[in-house]
Amino acid sequence: MSNLEAGKPGVVRLATAALVALVVALVVGAFWFTGRGADPASPETLPKNPRVIVISMDGLASYAVTRAQMPVLTRLRTGGASTLNARTAVERTVTLPNHTGMVTGRKIDAAVGGHGVTWNVASARNVRADVPSVFTVIHAAGGQSAVFVGKGKFRMWKRSWPGTIDRFAVEADLPALTDAVLADLGAQRRDLTFFHIAAPDVAGHASGWDSPAYDAAVTASDRALGKVVKAVESDPDLARDTIIVVTADHGGPPGLKDHGDATALVDFQIPFVVWGPGVAARDLYDINPDYTDPGDAQPSYDGPQPVRNAAVANLVTGLLGLDPVPGSQIDLRQDLGVVE
Ligand SMILES: [Zn+2]
Repeated sequence: MSNLEAGKPGVVRLATAALVALVVALVVGAFWFTGRGADPASPETLPKNPRVIVISMDGLASYAVTRAQMPVLTRLRTGGASTLNARTAVERTVTLPNHTGMVTGRKIDAAVGGHGVTWNVASARNVRADVPSVFTVIHAAGGQSAVFVGKGKFRMWKRSWPGTIDRFAVEADLPALTDAVLADLGAQRRDLTFFHIAAPDVAGHASGWDSPAYDAAVTASDRALGKVVKAVESDPDLARDTIIVVTADHGGPPGLKDHGDATALVDFQIPFVVWGPGVAARDLYDINPDYTDPGDAQPSYDGPQPVRNAAVANLVTGLLGLDPVPGSQIDLRQDLGVVE
């Protein structure tokens, strides 16, 4: 700078003038931009350019949400639109069928238009070619998705919807998987980030649901959620734009190591939490008269419907301003509301 001042004062004056003009333009632009979305009549509105993080805690029974230590999920529950009385699919209370429901918005049974994934093991089988997913819809709209999962059997998604998931990572170690999620959140703009946390299910199968080991895994899952929330809240862009959805694929019976009884309340009763800017701090059933709190029952697909985990797909498409997943059946009208 001193050389320039000595030798080329005219250039310096020009550069200074250009710098002043740039600063003025930036300040004016910033006021114009922040003023755009501000509506004094409704300060709490959903993000204009949203991104969604779906976190599925594998085997997280609703009773565990209040019994184990989950300070972060409790904060999201009370500060967001939530229920502890959501439901799994009717047909099965196991991982792969329910998660595939979450991303396709379908029932399980193919005979009634479901996605047809009845198996719950790693295999070479794929979802039927005529069953698209939330990833298909986001990709077709030019958006981006990332999937981080704790179990290898989810590779079926990557095979079934090739080229539509921009980042797909399998990692059994929860802290390592969480770090991968955080790194991706900081580096890429994803419209959808799907984060599967296997820990509660793994502990439940090894030591029993509601055991000390299970509670510890639930608490570790809450800690992972906390890292994601902290990352969102500490980045102004993420804080402004991000809606977080937390749910589960199934619960599990206290003291037992299997959750496959689709007629048991402890298996089919799960949390469903939506949190973020503009989302109402209300019970989901209170703000959604079209959905019916099922009490202790697992309603069939006929008649009044509870909030199901398969509502994730079209909650996401709706939040992103996209059409529902073609062929989907759950929340097809995108009417599961998260505002007052
Ligand atoms: Zn399991």
